[in-house]
Amino acid sequence: MAIKDNVKKLLEEIGEGVILEAAAKTRGAKEIDEAIESGIRVIGENYVSELKKVYPLVKNSAEWHFIGSTKTQKHDLLKRRVLEIVDMIETVDDFDFAYELNKRCVDLDKVMPVLIEVNSAKESQKSGVYPEDVVDLVKKIAKLSHIRVVGLMTMGPNVENPERIRPYFRLTKKLFDDIKGMKIENVEMAYLSMGMSDTYRIAIEEGANIVRIGTAIFGPRRQR
Ligand SMILES: *Cc1c(COP(=O)(O)O)cnc(C)c1O
Repeated sequence: MAIKDNVKKLLEEIGEGVILEAAAKTRGAKEIDEAIESGIRVIGENYVSELKKVYPLVKNSAEWHFIGSTKTQKHDLLKRRVLEIVDMIETVDDFDFAYELNKRCVDLDKVMPVLIEVNSAKESQKSGVYPEDVVDLVKKIAKLSHIRVVGLMTMGPNVENPERIRPYFRLTKKLFDDIKGMKIENVEMAYLSMGMSDTYRIAIEEGANIVRIGTAIFGPRRQR
């Protein structure tokens, strides 16, 4: 199916309270423009190199979120020209990165909205902070003047049967609600980003209000 039809169908299905973010890794500017023209408002990029390549070529305006690993991309992500175009970083999972990011944002005079990435299944090879460490990290980052924690993000484990991811989404939603209830100064629990092409329905049932979808919008991915 064409990108336009996919976006239309997804937007109808998910309704108004949930943001449909297009996960755009490996996609070119033409595909991204088509997605935006079909109603996408948020583009998610995993790699700074791809962001820098497509951003100048995309004609329509959108919000650009960074959804890649901040550990491996840290060096490139903290560049001034990149921070100028990024509207949200969804994958903050350690204080040292947040501290550096804050310094750069002070220089830029920009307050960066971030989500804390939760490693909800505690998989050692994956990025994200373990559930039991999320509150401490949020409290520490909350003290930084130019970073604003606005929610949580999780990937969850790779599962054959989408149903098996539900407990991890549920756990992340509970953390989200707990932190919201703490009313931490400079923290606004507004966004819960979880769910991809195979799992977005379950994520929405469990309280996601951002779903990050690649394949179901653009079709199968090309190799990088
Ligand atoms: C690729 C990717 C997605 C979307 O994956 P699909 O299965 O293609 O929908 C969502 N989130 C992140 C962080 C990704 O890297």
